[in-house]
Amino acid sequence: MLEAKDKIRLCATCQSFTENDVCEICSDPRRTTAQICVVAEPKDTAAIERLHEYRGRYHVLHGLLSPMDGVGPEQLRVKELLARLEGGEVEEVILATNPTIEGDATALYLASLLKPIGLNVTRLAHGMPIGGELDYADQATLLSAFEYRRPV
Ligand SMILES: [Zn+2]
Repeated sequence: MLEAKDKIRLCATCQSFTENDVCEICSDPRRTTAQICVVAEPKDTAAIERLHEYRGRYHVLHGLLSPMDGVGPEQLRVKELLARLEGGEVEEVILATNPTIEGDATALYLASLLKPIGLNVTRLAHGMPIGGELDYADQATLLSAFEYRRPV
């Protein structure tokens, strides 16, 4: 029981689950330190890793802002994120929280903290399903795709 508890802990850097002090991603020298992708839960890093596209680092918040449930910034790993930015190596912070009320509120809050530091803050585009047609997209998806449109 104690042994199992000892094995899994939080990465000292990104706060994801790991069996070591620092996780495999944070200790991989091939991954750039210039980008940090912020996610709500450790499982979200796995979802992004499956895309084999992203070569930066992660930061796990362990939740989303939810004032109604008493979850404020101090309940999330925000302090730890800000501490990582002090080194000056990070250029871009990608906010990859879900397109829900809590996810959007959390992204807006973090953007308000990070933009004044002079960081490039981006948000995932919650786009149209691949191969999907405008007509058949639900309104929330379409609205979101518009709202987060990016130059091509
Ligand atoms: Zn880590």
